[in-house]
Amino acid sequence: MKPILFAANWKLNKTPTETKTFFTDFISKCPQDLQNKICFFVPATSLETTSNSLKDSDIQWGSQNCYSKISGAFTGEISAGVMKELGATHILIGHSERRQLFHENNDEIAGKGHLIQSLSLTPVLCIGETLEQRDRNLTLGICEDQLRTFIEQINPAQPWVIAYEPVWAIGTGRVATSNQVKEVHDFIRNFLIQELGTEVAQRICILYGGSVKPDNAKELLQLENVNGFLVGGASLEVDSFLKICLS
Ligand code: PEP
Repeated sequence: MKPILFAANWKLNKTPTETKTFFTDFISKCPQDLQNKICFFVPATSLETTSNSLKDSDIQWGSQNCYSKISGAFTGEISAGVMKELGATHILIGHSERRQLFHENNDEIAGKGHLIQSLSLTPVLCIGETLEQRDRNLTLGICEDQLRTFIEQINPAQPWVIAYEPVWAIGTGRVATSNQVKEVHDFIRNFLIQELGTEVAQRICILYGGSVKPDNAKELLQLENVNGFLVGGASLEVDSFLKICLS
């Protein structure tokens, strides 16, 4: 059985009150045996509410970013140490919006991955190409560079997750075709096997992200090297995200 994870990225959406309402509804509808396959990445202002809402469930959660140091004079940043104290399990890093809007680079993201693992939390690394890079046939090379820098700085045998998210498919309604997803996910798995050996490589979840909806999730999940999804827009409604998790 391949490992499975369904992750939600709420981005800058939902107030603490909306967060609480969402989780009350979600927990009442989510089958118990599915809960430990689900992870929510909520905005910083909803972290404490999320911690309180999910503490009696098996649902996992974390922040959408963290800083590369635990504390100090870093105004406005989020500490992975605080995530740990609040009971988070995962931290999302390297999302394309962080790379593009906040100019994060592969090295900086790998440093965050190292710190997150040192706290026994699980980093979820986003990788993926822009449309311009895909058109220039650079997709596989870009993914390889993003992965290689990361595995050089983390302990690849400790838990971590990859989310392949073609930038042109995020929030655009333009989902990658099964063949496009298969090509990149197979490439990533083979790269991991070559670099880390089969046993470690097969334990690593490779999620697909980019306009995943209830009606395209089932087909993509059937691909051998798709271990689940990172879902933005469709994770904001209880019923649509649950349908994806039940695919
Ligand atoms: C995302 O934000 O990571 C994402 C995949 O968004 P969407 O599902 O809305 O494309």
